[in-house]
Amino acid sequence: MGAFKAWVVEKTESGQSLSFRDFDDADLMDGDVTVRVTHSTLNYKDGLALTGRSPVVRRFPMIPGIDFAGTVESSGHSEYRAGDAVVLTGWGVGETHLGAYAQKARVKGDWLVPLPAGLSPEQAMAVGTAGYTAMLSLMALDAHGMTPSDGPALVTGASGGVGSVAVALLARAGWHVIASTGRAGEGDYLKGLGAAEILDRAELDKPGRPLGKERWAAAIDAVGSTTLANVLAMTKSDGAVAACGLAQGMDLPTSVAPFILRGVSLLGINSVTTPQKKRREAWARIARELDLGKLAAMTRTVGLEEVGTLGEDILAGHVRGRTVVTVG
Ligand code: NDP
Repeated sequence: MGAFKAWVVEKTESGQSLSFRDFDDADLMDGDVTVRVTHSTLNYKDGLALTGRSPVVRRFPMIPGIDFAGTVESSGHSEYRAGDAVVLTGWGVGETHLGAYAQKARVKGDWLVPLPAGLSPEQAMAVGTAGYTAMLSLMALDAHGMTPSDGPALVTGASGGVGSVAVALLARAGWHVIASTGRAGEGDYLKGLGAAEILDRAELDKPGRPLGKERWAAAIDAVGSTTLANVLAMTKSDGAVAACGLAQGMDLPTSVAPFILRGVSLLGINSVTTPQKKRREAWARIARELDLGKLAAMTRTVGLEEVGTLGEDILAGHVRGRTVVTVG
């Protein structure tokens, strides 16, 4: 038995509290693999869990943090042995199962993937759930048969985590990328990642017409709500939009017009319960296709003890690109 450092969310009468404290090994939940966590990240959903703004934490006490990279300490799973480098995203970790903002995690081996060849644990978490979701979105567009010759690809929430990786991946795949952002000062940053054009998000975030001028063939949308409705309304005939986020809202105030008059397809992306085969394919493609120089350019690093203050920042849209959390 031993104690380790962890961020812990507890239920209170007025909502929830957050503290950085010792957590006992014996209080970890069931799982056949125990991992020494070396890195985690900050995602939008982590912001919701840390602040309690949305009820993503559904078990108390909870260690938040939805993804980690680390080294197997002990394993009863046939695929993993002590010393193996592993990555975890999703599966309710940090929501219903004790999560990543801690020096130790115990999880089901079936949830893990081996650290992809070519990525360090730190780089894997610079990608994290956000970047892996960007890759799932690109894979959905590919599976739909979309190619750069069909026309431009739009990315919304482009300065955020999903958006930054999506811009880099689409540009690398040969797309003419239009990056939509509300941050006028991030134009050079987005062009550095491969964006060909910058679009002010004010052109997309207010109610618009059911159909507009056809401006892009494909899109990766991290924003949802009115923005997604406008993205659909301006997608070219037979185009496709991968919907993966809700930074503006959960609603979708659209009409059937883009679907029945232009044959536009809306492709849903869920990174949490992706089956193992697709998960590994996504990570292998990330290792092959994501420019590591661009990944470094979109990433900053913080210590585990700093995480508690970052939830509000990401929900306010103040965090650029990706944040790696180093767990000592
Ligand atoms: P970030 O906060 O890093 O990025 C979101 C970006 O959206 C912001 O940077 C901002 O970009 C833009 N934005 C924020 N608020 C608004 C608003 N009110 N209206 C319009 N645009 C806004 O978050 P992540 O990249 O980590 O996640 C993005 C979204 O994807 C989240 O909703 C998250 O929950 C979802 N997600 C879903 C997954 C899935 O499995 N489907 C997995 C991972 C994430 P800018 O300043 O450039 O305009």
